[in-house]
Amino acid sequence: MGIALIWSIIMILFRWIFSKRRGAISYDSSDQTALYIRMLGDVRVRSQVGFEPDRRGSHPYLGVDFRTLHSRAESAGSIPARRIRRLFSFQRHLLSSRLLRGAPHLNPLHILDEDYCGQAKCMLEKVGSWNFDIFLFDRLTNGNSLVFLTFNLLNQYGLIELFQLDMVKLRRFLVLVQEDYHNQNPYHNAVHAADVTQAMHCYLREPKLAQSLTSFDILLGLLAAATHDLDHPGVNQPFLIKTNHYLAALYRNTSVLENHHWRSAVGLLRETELFSNLPAEDSLSIERQLGSLILATDISRQNEYLSRFRTHLDEDDLCLGNASHRHFVLQMALKCADICNPCRPWELSKQWSEKVTEEFFHQGDIEKKYKLEISPLCDSEANTIASVQIGFMTYVVEPLFAEWARFSDTRLSQTMLGHLGLNKASWSAMEPEASGSSEEGESEPGHATDEPSSRVLSQGSQES
Ligand SMILES: [Zn+2]
Repeated sequence: MGIALIWSIIMILFRWIFSKRRGAISYDSSDQTALYIRMLGDVRVRSQVGFEPDRRGSHPYLGVDFRTLHSRAESAGSIPARRIRRLFSFQRHLLSSRLLRGAPHLNPLHILDEDYCGQAKCMLEKVGSWNFDIFLFDRLTNGNSLVFLTFNLLNQYGLIELFQLDMVKLRRFLVLVQEDYHNQNPYHNAVHAADVTQAMHCYLREPKLAQSLTSFDILLGLLAAATHDLDHPGVNQPFLIKTNHYLAALYRNTSVLENHHWRSAVGLLRETELFSNLPAEDSLSIERQLGSLILATDISRQNEYLSRFRTHLDEDDLCLGNASHRHFVLQMALKCADICNPCRPWELSKQWSEKVTEEFFHQGDIEKKYKLEISPLCDSEANTIASVQIGFMTYVVEPLFAEWARFSDTRLSQTMLGHLGLNKASWSAMEPEASGSSEEGESEPGHATDEPSSRVLSQGSQES
């Protein structure tokens, strides 16, 4: 299909979907995990009745008065079940809270202006470029970069036709995914998801992957990238644990956020019935593999994945005809895409650095306010953007991309390592005291990550 035709279809569907956004939705009650989320959410809401909002068990960051939420749900006999369920996601907590306070809805889905639309179309012609400016693309699409980019890529790879995806369901799925990212997060928002999806596309085009991945692998890779941080609250796992958030209990303090991103994605897949035309075993396989990919972005398991990758490369035994090896390579590609910010050109990389640090410091401010222990890297008085970045690059990013370049020794890999070196030098120039760690990392790149500091890993857990 020509790009003009596709674009017209996108616009028509966009209007139609938005007008249907509030329609009644079926919900698969056999999804036990989602059921537990709802049950625990409900218990939690009820437990707050009569308590002060900042008492133990309420969530200071989300700032929701659970008593009000509870009374809203209780008096909502006519509210469709889906809307009530949605109140229990992080995003819905915030939205409902804002609405109850009379604040305007901040994320309207506008129809694109024709002029901007043309420029966005031009940008998509170079969607495989490592210099792709996702911030500009997001502005040109009026904050809808994730929907437009992902739709375009799925179409470009021929996946819509191949899997006979219903365009209306697909558009609806992508709009819901984008909406369930929190645009008030400085970093973990839909633009980050779009950026990771674009990076994933660049990796999927690398010769080793392009020659071996199946269409099913590519579909999974793109979907995992687009949903990998779904409904991220803008705080990290330790914060959820220490504020007794129910998701920490639900997932037993293990990959809490990643499990939630995955289950949220599965919820939207089922809600939109995107894969209802596929045999049940295939759609279950998609859900399972999506989980395995998203869970791999848990940075606390970074060394485990990196060691496995290194061993495969040392023994030269990665066989991409083998489905499990291809899946492992997809996991590594997603991990790279997730933390590739320091490998982008300085102007893009710098913006990401500022955003992620803003999110850390925001968490630190909340921790200070509520007299909680301040998480590593989150204290704005003890850290700078430069110091945070230099540590992150040295202990987390460089080791991963060094191995990726061994696996895929291409121009793109060299470009990424080049930007990484230059960006680190730029931050080091701003932070003379921290440049020691920078030199250390450069002198022994193969060993610098064997024992990454817990401070840096804690940052990584936010970046994932
Ligand atoms: Zn991420």
